Amino acid sequence: MNKIKQIVAVIRDRQDITKEELQLVLQTKDTDGIQYLYDMAKETAQTVYGNQVFIRGLIEFTNYCRNDCYYCGIRKSNTQAQRYRLTGEQILSCCKTGYELGFRTFVLQGGEDGFFTDEKLCSLISEIKKNYPDCAVTLSIGEREKESYQRFFDVGADRYLLRHETAQECHYKSLHPSAMSFEHRRQCLYNLKEIGYQVGCGFMVGSPGQTVETLYEDLRFIKELAPHMVGIGPFIPQKDTPFAGKAAGTMEQTLKLLSIIRLIHPHVLLPATTALGTIHPKGREKGILAGANVVMPNLSPVNVREKYKLYDNKICTGDEAAECRFCMQRRMESIGYQVVTDRGDYRP
Ligand code: SAH
Repeated sequence: MNKIKQIVAVIRDRQDITKEELQLVLQTKDTDGIQYLYDMAKETAQTVYGNQVFIRGLIEFTNYCRNDCYYCGIRKSNTQAQRYRLTGEQILSCCKTGYELGFRTFVLQGGEDGFFTDEKLCSLISEIKKNYPDCAVTLSIGEREKESYQRFFDVGADRYLLRHETAQECHYKSLHPSAMSFEHRRQCLYNLKEIGYQVGCGFMVGSPGQTVETLYEDLRFIKELAPHMVGIGPFIPQKDTPFAGKAAGTMEQTLKLLSIIRLIHPHVLLPATTALGTIHPKGREKGILAGANVVMPNLSPVNVREKYKLYDNKICTGDEAAECRFCMQRRMESIGYQVVTDRGDYRP
């Protein structure tokens, strides 16, 4: 067996990785070894989740944001962004469409928008849970006080996605203005977990300044937090941000990291992200074949899709929810996977 294959087998058996192993796997060009990595991760995912792919309906309900992350297209200082908010009625209508299309998880994602107070969000979450008691509600609305997270949980929110973005403090400071706190973001994740949410952390692959060291810390953090979900996708520059001229992350590094995360944390819910589908036409299929088991088609109304631009060239901005849903089904079937009508909870 060649060297990379041996390392992959060790990572799988130990469910952990050393910095040296990470470096070797990320740097190798050995196509047999890389394919073996993907195959092992895919088999691991299949032992837990079979050939089923879970779908989540993504509702991008506001692009107002008080933060100014250097990489993000909806940062506060981007005067080119056309700001919008969906009304409660519009959000519920997205859920209705989504439910009819077989979605049993709705992900409410947005910037950190003070307009959506705890009260407004609580009544929205309650309404969704009342209309669709068999569905999970996932929130992805950034950092809030623990009390707020508790209130959302008490009215029925099930899951929370909050990418940690990077587990290395100096790197965090190079991606965010000084008003944002590395410690606070991590604390939020621990708070969410303590409350009882299924939590997701994650990071961008190839963000400016990221090194093997950074990624090693990201993997250590995943082992420590033991989240239910991990969202990773390539960094893609957005033209109206300070990182406009930076290089994008690559598909190959993203696929390798998806596989490694699957091997060291086998039960995790792992999406093949829209960003991965943006840098390569078959990115999401390749993500599933490298160990991912979740996809998140867009349920946002078509007239706002163009405006929720975290990065340039985002795919599917012109497609109706139903088109995205059936396109995804075809894509998954083309690689031997089945999109299921299921909440798609974490399987311990
Ligand atoms: N406001 C919420 C949601 C953020 S958007 C929050 O703070 O969690 C969701 C994710 O998109 C971010 O966590 C970030 O990792 C990713 N993202 C932002 N800009 C990006 C870019 N230019 N390229 C790729 N991913 C990006």
